[in-house]
Amino acid sequence: MSVSGKYGVGYAFAIALLIGVAVAAYVGQTRYEESSEVAERANRVISDLEMLWTELIEAESGQRGYIITGNQEYLNQAKQQWPSITDRLSRLAPLVEGDASLNAQFAQLRGDLTDRIEVSRVAIAKRQSGGFQPAALLVASGQGKRLTDGIRDIIDDMEATQRHIITAANARTAESLDFVISLSTFGAIAVASAILIAGYLMTRQMTRRVQQLVEVTDVLGGGDLAARVALRGHDDFTSIGRAINNMAANLQASRETLNAFAYTVAHDLRAPLRALQGFSKALIDDYSDQLNTEGRDWARRIFSAAQRMDELLTDILEYSRVNRENMQLVPVKLENVVDDVLASLSSSIAEAKATVTVERPFPAVIAHRPVLEQAITNLITNAVKFTKPRAVPEIRVWAQATNGTVRLWVVDEGIGIAPDHQERIFNVFERLHDAESYPGTGIGLAIVRKGIERMGGRTGVESVPGQGSQFWIELPSGDHS
Ligand code: ADP
Repeated sequence: MSVSGKYGVGYAFAIALLIGVAVAAYVGQTRYEESSEVAERANRVISDLEMLWTELIEAESGQRGYIITGNQEYLNQAKQQWPSITDRLSRLAPLVEGDASLNAQFAQLRGDLTDRIEVSRVAIAKRQSGGFQPAALLVASGQGKRLTDGIRDIIDDMEATQRHIITAANARTAESLDFVISLSTFGAIAVASAILIAGYLMTRQMTRRVQQLVEVTDVLGGGDLAARVALRGHDDFTSIGRAINNMAANLQASRETLNAFAYTVAHDLRAPLRALQGFSKALIDDYSDQLNTEGRDWARRIFSAAQRMDELLTDILEYSRVNRENMQLVPVKLENVVDDVLASLSSSIAEAKATVTVERPFPAVIAHRPVLEQAITNLITNAVKFTKPRAVPEIRVWAQATNGTVRLWVVDEGIGIAPDHQERIFNVFERLHDAESYPGTGIGLAIVRKGIERMGGRTGVESVPGQGSQFWIELPSGDHS
């Protein structure tokens, strides 16, 4: 999946989580409002019932006052309350709708109140028509009191029911509130954690992939064109990796073509060069008495130029061989290789009156023996060659093993190399001196570096101009393989 696709999925997940939390919070909020509404309605029922009771008591006291005193004001008081009671009952009706038991109680209440008002009306009418006595007899019969007591009981029952409803609704309200608060808190934490974790994981994965790309491009930049990015999955990094691999493969193919070309050219030039060498030598050996001084000088110059070209072609072919050789990497005894190299260089070492100190023992390395031998030969040849004028070369060869690798040092006390040049002398044809002062082709160290790198190793130099150089090559240890 592409990087933007991954981000898309991450965002979609976070948004889905947020929507889920919002929906649950909305449901919780609705439940909270519903139960608050139920509690509020029950409270209204209770307060209406209490008002109803007060109005009834007011009406009764008016009725009683009128019967006892015959005072019109009491009569008005009673009469005023009756329509209020009826109105309140009408307002209460919709509030108790939908609850069967409450409805039954309400019907009973309505009937009893109507009856109670009727009893009052009759008593008042008796007071008006027959005076105190008949009305007092009706009151004393207790009919009105029984109705009033019954009404109180119904009101008490209805209020008790409403109180239960309020308690339950309050519990639900608190529950819903708790739910919304917990959900908002945990939801926010969950969304934030999900975003953080997803962000962390994606960043980590991307950093790793970028690191892999950087590692491979570093190796390619260092010249090892065999390095490839491991292709995994189908995201943008895989596409970049594939592009890098294609580029490396193309570069590798071009390099191989160039190598093959250089090899063929160097190889094919040898035949005409041999002729040039042979004929110039023949001129010097067999016809020098027929040439004047200038002719002899020219013949010698042709011969030495041909010699130099031969050295160059030999080195180019050697470099090409190191580049192309199919290497078999096996444990090699470094000590034997050093001994063989010193034996093969013994005459030039003796000629230069050089002393070579070999500090034994040497660990084994993993290498391709002919290329390793060539590299050590080049280093010791240079150590013998680049000495200060009239000085006797003193060379030390030693090795150290660290962390699975072995580093072989070739140390001289020669002319040394300025820091600016210490890296570039490993390139092909890089020389710091003219052929008169120090003969050479400028390919020796390039062969060392290429050969050692192809065996999975590294090369380098530490040097102080005028004090000497310490060249090193490093290869995987072969002691425990
Ligand atoms: P060549 O020896 O044929 O000139 P190399 O590639 O072996 O080519 O070396 C490149 C250059 O590095 C040399 O020309 C020389 O200037 C410098 N160099 C190599 N080895 C040494 C050394 N041991 N001491 C000082 N300079 C060195």
